[in-house]
Amino acid sequence: MHPNQTQPQVSKIAIALHGGAGTILKSQISADQEAAYTEALDTALRTGWDLLAAGATALEAVTATVVWLENCPLFNAGKGAVFTHTGGHELDAAVMEGHTNKAGAVAGVRTIKNPILAAKAVMEHTDHVLLAQAGAEELAAEQGLELVSPDYFSTAFRKAQLDAALVEGRVLLDHDGKIDGEIKAKQDPVISGDPIDPNHKFGTVGAVALDQYGHLAAATSTGGMTNKRYNRIGDSPLIGAGTWADENVAISATGHGEVFICNVVAYDVAARIKYQGKSLNQACQATIIDHLGEVAPDSGGIVAVDRFGNVCLPFNTEGMYRAWQTESVRGVEIYKD
Ligand code: ASP
Repeated sequence: MHPNQTQPQVSKIAIALHGGAGTILKSQISADQEAAYTEALDTALRTGWDLLAAGATALEAVTATVVWLENCPLFNAGKGAVFTHTGGHELDAAVMEGHTNKAGAVAGVRTIKNPILAAKAVMEHTDHVLLAQAGAEELAAEQGLELVSPDYFSTAFRKAQLDAALVEGRVLLDHDGKIDGEIKAKQDPVISGDPIDPNHKFGTVGAVALDQYGHLAAATSTGGMTNKRYNRIGDSPLIGAGTWADENVAISATGHGEVFICNVVAYDVAARIKYQGKSLNQACQATIIDHLGEVAPDSGGIVAVDRFGNVCLPFNTEGMYRAWQTESVRGVEIYKD
C-alpha cells in the first residue's frame, strides 16, 4: 500500500455503473425518454446493490448488473447493440477481478446473448484472457451459455443510425462526435429515441463494485460503434484500456475506443493511485478531465470505485448515463449538472 493511502473506510460495499456518455440534447428530451433511461439505470443499480448487500462477490454483482444492461434495448450492448458497416453486430466485453489479478474478455462475438458471461467464462474456464469471434463462441457453447440468432441484437433505431451513417459515408459514431475536430451533424433524436445525441454518444455499459470481503471487480460490455469496420475491436475488452481492477480500484470506461486504447485510460487512473498515492478523485480528475480533456476532449468517461468504498464517475462529455450507491449515497444521473 502506498503510504499516502490511509483514508478511512467510507462504505463497506459500493457500486457504480454507466450506460454510455455523450452530448445531451436537453431541448429534445421528452419526459418519457428521460423516465425510461432513469428507470433502467435505477433497476440495474438495484440489481447489483441487492446482490452485494446479500453477500455476493463484487464479480457476481458487476456481472449481474451488466447482464441486466445487456438485456435492456436502450443501451449499446447486447440487445440494442449498434450495427457494423455490413449490417451485423459484433460485441466486445470484459471482466476483471482485483484481488486475483484475473481477467476474461471476448471480442467480435455475434451470437452470444450475454457477452459478459462469455468474458467471465474465459476468465474462469480457460488459461487465456481474451478470446475472439468463433473461438469465443465455441467456448460459450461449451459452457452452456445462451446463443441467439445474430438479428436478436437488432433494433429499429440502431438500424436508422446505420442508414444515416451509410448515407453520409462515414463512421457515424454512437461514439465520437469529433473525429476530425469538428462537431458532426446531429442525427434526429426522434429517430433514435435517445436523449443523448447519437453522434456524440458512447453507448457501452459497465459496472464496478466493492464487496464486503474487500474485493473489487469491473465489467464492461459494448456493441462498439455504428458503421464500424469489419472486425474492429474497441477498448472495452482490452484490459487496462476500457476495463481494469486491482487491489486499489476498479474501473469501467465508455468513450472513443481508439482514444482510450492509446491512452491506456483505465490503467492510467489505477497507476496514479498505486504509484503516486493519489486519491480516487485526484486520479480521475488527472486522467479523464485534465489529460483527456486536453488531448481528446469529448472522448468519454469512466465509473470507478476504490477499496475504501469511494465512488467517482468523471466524464469529459456533456453527459453520461450513470448510477451509484454506497452505504450513505445513492444517485442516478444523465446530465452534467
Ligand atoms: N468504447 C467503446 C468502443 O470504442 C464504445 C463506447 O463506449 O460506446 O467500442
